[in-house]
Amino acid sequence: MPFAATRPQLAHLTAVMDDLKARGTYFKLRVLDDEQGPVCHYDGREVINLASNNYLGLCNHPKLREAAIAATRKYGVGSGAVRTIAGTMRIHMELEEKIAAFKGVEACVVFQSGFSANAGTVSSILGKEDFILSDELNHASIIDGARLSKAKIKVFRHKDVAHAEELLKEVQNEPGRKLVITDGVFSMDGDIGPVGELADLCERYGAIMMVDDAHASGVLGRNGRGSVDHFHATSKVDVQVGTLSKAIGALGGYVCGSRDLIDFLYHRARPFLFSTSHPPSVAATCIAAFDLLESEPERIARLWDNTWYFKKQLTDAGFDVGGKTTPASETPITPIILGDGRRTMDFSRALFDQGVMATGIAFPTVSEGKARIRTIMTSEHTRPQIDRALDIIVSTAKTSGIL
Ligand code: PMP
Repeated sequence: MPFAATRPQLAHLTAVMDDLKARGTYFKLRVLDDEQGPVCHYDGREVINLASNNYLGLCNHPKLREAAIAATRKYGVGSGAVRTIAGTMRIHMELEEKIAAFKGVEACVVFQSGFSANAGTVSSILGKEDFILSDELNHASIIDGARLSKAKIKVFRHKDVAHAEELLKEVQNEPGRKLVITDGVFSMDGDIGPVGELADLCERYGAIMMVDDAHASGVLGRNGRGSVDHFHATSKVDVQVGTLSKAIGALGGYVCGSRDLIDFLYHRARPFLFSTSHPPSVAATCIAAFDLLESEPERIARLWDNTWYFKKQLTDAGFDVGGKTTPASETPITPIILGDGRRTMDFSRALFDQGVMATGIAFPTVSEGKARIRTIMTSEHTRPQIDRALDIIVSTAKTSGIL
């Protein structure tokens, strides 16, 4: 007799899955058989990998591997408690000091994920009398944090600074605090948020400025310092969130800002207070990764070379890579916009069968009618691998009637 999912209590979940199957957007998780890399094996099949966030190939860099092993030998595998109880190890503090110095800010706090960094911060620094002005395409973790804060949420049109200002004007005379928040790089379209302009706007209106730099960390700015550095806006951004799970190659999120902000989060951010801290191996890995951003800047240069080459080839081949009905990508995230969910998922499966791993993304992750194949370049893709992937994408698109 099978377990719970077949019991009537959970029949509504089965109904949702049945609906996804009928729409052609149901998916099964692809399973990685070996390590992340430009070419790897998913479900037993060798594929060119255009799907990971391993922008700089750090997921399996030998120095990071060694750092993790050495920390495991020295400190063991777990921290044993939440940070405020008994789970703050010297290496956690070293990582926070390292990130703060790298970003040129007073202080930093590390969370277990970028998701909890965003959600834990937005939900704790504001209350129900306050206002959050959020870009319509901001990440789910910001939306969840905003809801948890109980603040009044106002959504501005994507990257529309004038609209953000209109909304700020509307609430200007209300007593609550105002927070403006944007992604530095938008995760589904790969476009860059107007961080500099929004930061100026916040200065003029006395609003708090917050940026989620998950996809900009290690990618934009000097040695990958992120979008805030890219726009020379460090002194105007109050809260900078980043992730350790993408370009940094490991797992976690962080918040950078003033000493007071970080002290406050130590005392009030719920994922910090109520969830166990990173294993020491993860902290050690991240410390080594920030060293690498400084010592191997050629990785970021290669990432951008590959990115521009790949985008140009896709555009020349006739694909819609954004900029028509969706925002134009400016970073290593390049969507191939197909619109229809079923068609997108079928194309993704066909690409996989031909040897390219490129994830199909449909509603509700992106809006209805804007389904796409999301591709991500890394510094580690070689030119022959990129060309091979392009050949497969073009030929599969022709056979599927997409081109
Ligand atoms: N913000 C953005 C824009 C993201 O794309 C993601 C990851 N999908 C996150 C935050 C969360 O980061 P993490 O994976 O470290 O939880």
